[in-house]
Amino acid sequence: MRISRLAVAALALLAPLAFTTTATAQESTVDVMARPAFEMPFPCGQIWRAGTRSNHNPLYAIDFNMGSGDSDAGKPVIASAGGTVDVRYAASGYGNYVVINHGGGWATYYAHLGSVAVRDGQRVARGARVGTVGKSGGQTYTHLHYEQRLNGNDVKAVLHGKAVTYYGDISTKSANC
Ligand SMILES: [Zn+2]
Repeated sequence: MRISRLAVAALALLAPLAFTTTATAQESTVDVMARPAFEMPFPCGQIWRAGTRSNHNPLYAIDFNMGSGDSDAGKPVIASAGGTVDVRYAASGYGNYVVINHGGGWATYYAHLGSVAVRDGQRVARGARVGTVGKSGGQTYTHLHYEQRLNGNDVKAVLHGKAVTYYGDISTKSANC
């Protein structure tokens, strides 16, 4: 009984130290990551299929579909996080696309848009309407091609704090609320 009490007393003394150490470790991890809290590029509550594949270009891009064929045409695309907009066009490939620069080297790409709802250089908040789903750039079916990039390189996407599964199709519900 006496040993047990001593052990409890010792733990009580150590506990604040242990907590402090853990908190510091978590903070420094966040600093290193510095990834914005990206949400799905669709309105709150919508369920989309996020498709990834090993022959996608770039590799870690996601093609989002809700329905099939062209049934997603005109559905709103919204910002994953706040940032500054760069509106671009590529006749074959990305078509009408928007890049949002989030700072810290992070950017998100929204490609094959049917229409663009932002201006070059515009500041947007998370959830702001970027445009609509389309198939510009010579695509055969309507979908949103989406990327998360760090310092220009595509990286495996994280949405709502959850790593996207590579490779395959997963069903995801937007918490971009
Ligand atoms: Zn794609």
